[in-house]
Amino acid sequence: MPYREGPALLLCPRCGEVLDRVFGGVSACPRCQGAWVTQATLDAAFGNPRWPPGQNLWWHQSLDCPECAMEGVVSTMAARRSDVVMVDLCPSHGLWLDAGELARLMKLEDGSDELLELQKRVSAVSPDPDELSQRRLAWRSELDARRRAAQEFRTWLEHEHRRKQEEAAAAERRAAMQAIDDRRRERERSRADEAAQQQRVKEIAAKRIALDKLKEERTRVIHGIRALDARLAALKQESGRLESELDEAKSRLHAIDLEIDGDDLK
Ligand SMILES: [Zn+2]
Ligand SMILES: [Zn+2]
Repeated sequence: MPYREGPALLLCPRCGEVLDRVFGGVSACPRCQGAWVTQATLDAAFGNPRWPPGQNLWWHQSLDCPECAMEGVVSTMAARRSDVVMVDLCPSHGLWLDAGELARLMKLEDGSDELLELQKRVSAVSPDPDELSQRRLAWRSELDARRRAAQEFRTWLEHEHRRKQEEAAAAERRAAMQAIDDRRRERERSRADEAAQQQRVKEIAAKRIALDKLKEERTRVIHGIRALDARLAALKQESGRLESELDEAKSRLHAIDLEIDGDDLK
């Protein structure tokens, strides 16, 4: 068997349901009744892994290949117009047929079971040795092409992987630079805060010194006032004494004048 085994679990490309395995290489969707047929089975039934012949309509919007999807690759199948229907074909894996399409391709009578007819056809064909060896040769030449395609795909994947790694490393570098920048700005901010704090402390100290000076001056002024008060009291006392001395002198003058006027000898 030159074809490798397909993945164990396939999802319907039409409706997302898990496909049932019907027989070797054929799975069917229990919901929409579509069928997935592998290249090996197409080869066994129709002698052509790319059956049915027809024209690929690459520009036509088509379904994603269920086997490619299981390998983690999204690959849109080619829409192929055969003489009676339009089918969806993955160049690496197989063919998707919506319900009834296989019957129309195989030109079955109405009401016949298309998958049963396909199974009959697979088991009826017992390839003769010549045909088998020819098919193997054909398969091998195709295998080289496939290997090349796979190699190209792997190269592309590696390239993508490297590109993503480089992107991640660049992002990491940017983040590290950003962190350094942030730390520097933070240090600058804290230095500015510290300077502002020191400035405030200096201002408070200067205010305290000015206040102390004012208090000292106040004490001096109070002492001055007390001294002036005492001098004023002494001066008032002196003034009282001088006034009474003056009054006494004036009275004495009056008395003398009276005495002189009363004397007849004048
Ligand atoms: Zn389905
Ligand atoms: Zn595929």
